[in-house]
Amino acid sequence: MIIRKSSDEIAAMARAGAVVARAHEAVQEALRPGMSTLDLDRLAERVIVGAGATPSFKGYRGFPATLCTSLNEQVVHGIPSADVRLDEGDVLSIDCGAIVDGFHGDSAVTLVVGGDAAASREVRRLVAATRDALWQGLQQVHGGHRLGDIGAAVQAVADAHGYGLVREYVGHGIGRALHEDPSVPNHGTAGRGAQLSQGWVLAVEPMFNLGGARTRALEDGWTVVTADGSLSAHWEHTVAVTPEGPWVLTARSDEPAWPWTDGLPASYLAAAG
Ligand code: MG
Ligand code: MG
Repeated sequence: MIIRKSSDEIAAMARAGAVVARAHEAVQEALRPGMSTLDLDRLAERVIVGAGATPSFKGYRGFPATLCTSLNEQVVHGIPSADVRLDEGDVLSIDCGAIVDGFHGDSAVTLVVGGDAAASREVRRLVAATRDALWQGLQQVHGGHRLGDIGAAVQAVADAHGYGLVREYVGHGIGRALHEDPSVPNHGTAGRGAQLSQGWVLAVEPMFNLGGARTRALEDGWTVVTADGSLSAHWEHTVAVTPEGPWVLTARSDEPAWPWTDGLPASYLAAAG
């Protein structure tokens, strides 16, 4: 069942999204080689709790941390640890959620430790293309469009680059629960699937691999890695269907909250070189 949100509820979700955005900005600002993923987790938790919000992931089905930190061949759901020290050139996916007034925000970024220059052109392209696919998908979040329009837009970017498109994990509805209906696949056919309407709030989250599409879960019960050990990237935003077009509730300061009217963020494309 898809739970529609009123405009007041979407406004509450925007407050949750803003806390998630501030946590991401703090983590990105602090990220340095030599830090541990647990250092990043503690920082994000301080920002969220300091804003009067609650981390979404901590305690979710027993997940132990505020962030999911997924390093290199890890796709999603990596567990922060004092033992995981970051090296220059590492590719780190950071997924963060927060609850405000009972509503969740959910957003992920993939960053190169030490900055984009620390990565090869091939890796920069993977990260930038996955981010591009996210924004191509977000641009489809209009009333009257269909879920297949989102999936097709994301898939087109992966196919153009020949990346492995992860299918075992997908985007989702979001609201008072972190994961609600519908599932939002990262592949699809334009014009197919359920029709979006006003009040839907979705998390769109493409995951692209440099190699094959297949994944497997590690024995910790959480961490998902690429089956072939290739690098993976993951970007995510929470977005609402509004009469004015897609409202990106988790947009950070350097991104448009209204990509339909303000245009797509162009700066990241330069990172692809
Ligand atoms: Mg997430
Ligand atoms: Mg999500």
